[in-house]
Amino acid sequence: MKTAGKSIDLNDKRVLIIDDSATVRNYLQTYLTSMGAVTDSAATGHEGLAKCAEPPYDLVLLDILLPDIDGIEVLKQIRERNEISTVIMITGHGGVKSAIAAIQLGADGYLQKQEITSTRDDHTEFLYAIEQALEHRAGIVAQKQLQEIRADFYSMVTHDLRSPTSTILTAAEMLDQDHAQQQPFSSEQQQLVRLIHKAANKLFRLINDYLEFAKIEAGYLRLNLEEVELRQLVESSAELAQLQAQAKQQSLTLDLPPTPVYACVDAERLTQVFDNLLSNAIKYTPNGGQITVKMQVRPEDKAVEFRIIDTGLGIPTQYLPALFTKYHRVPGEAARGIHGSGLGLLIVKEIVTAHGGTVHAESQGADQGSTFVIILPLTGA
Ligand code: ADP
Repeated sequence: MKTAGKSIDLNDKRVLIIDDSATVRNYLQTYLTSMGAVTDSAATGHEGLAKCAEPPYDLVLLDILLPDIDGIEVLKQIRERNEISTVIMITGHGGVKSAIAAIQLGADGYLQKQEITSTRDDHTEFLYAIEQALEHRAGIVAQKQLQEIRADFYSMVTHDLRSPTSTILTAAEMLDQDHAQQQPFSSEQQQLVRLIHKAANKLFRLINDYLEFAKIEAGYLRLNLEEVELRQLVESSAELAQLQAQAKQQSLTLDLPPTPVYACVDAERLTQVFDNLLSNAIKYTPNGGQITVKMQVRPEDKAVEFRIIDTGLGIPTQYLPALFTKYHRVPGEAARGIHGSGLGLLIVKEIVTAHGGTVHAESQGADQGSTFVIILPLTGA
């Protein structure tokens, strides 16, 4: 029901009208000024864009058909500059299709030219369209602001929680070393230090997973792409995992191509992927097991394939499809005392997908080992 409109507040709103018809420009300027708006106008796309400097207009009424550049192109350039201005497209007869296309490109609504000029006494339709468009844009702006606040909050919390946790970790490690070197603890004290160390380690991983996931969910996964040699990246990830594997008497073997493989990737993020998959392989493989990383270039589809293979607990086939979803853990793992957040694989999938790649898991079932397969495109390197 189009009852709104009369309540619309245009007081002090800065409005720009871009239209080649002097009649439309004059009419809109007069009417909107009488509503309290501060108006300006332009007869061509270039003139309009020149006026669209800072600060952004609250509202732009933009003709789709302009004598110099297409109204859609003007819209695109306005959106490149700001997300704040409400933009309403003005169309002629039969221009609805292009108006809808404009909405997909960031316009907030459209008005037909004849609606503006032929209903001089009744402005309900016109004001309703403006009100709807202003609300639409306000919603988008509010959502963006919320996302920014969330991202700031996450990075603040990340820092605030991580740093005391890593202090506890380091202190526990040092106590453990001191004990080994000079001041023997009683066996009870020794046990307590190990307990602190284990708990801090677990806390550190959980904080990382939760915060990483929260950031990704808020839409803040940004890749820093650079040319990277992928064999080296795998090797350095495996170096760290080697220590974890040794602690469980597992062997960790790399099977890499004989020559360097370059790709355009975010090295830090991709390292996170391998760290995650290797630490899972170690975690879900009993002592003495075997972990292998196979890397193979697939020239036929300009891609590189990584297989992280373990001889561990395996995954019953019915759980394979849900593995990469939020908080999903194969039932029974908590009971076996293997801790986790159920977020690691989701983070892996988000990062791999952002690189244009795919990831999936293969397993013949419980206690049959698991293989995680990543395929990354080699384009752009
Ligand atoms: P978690 O923090 O629980 O390890 P992930 O998202 O990394 O979370 O993994 C989700 C679930 O997938 C795990 O809880 C586990 O049940 C299963 N899983 C992951 N990697 C392996 C593996 N290498 N072998 C067997 N199960 C695995």
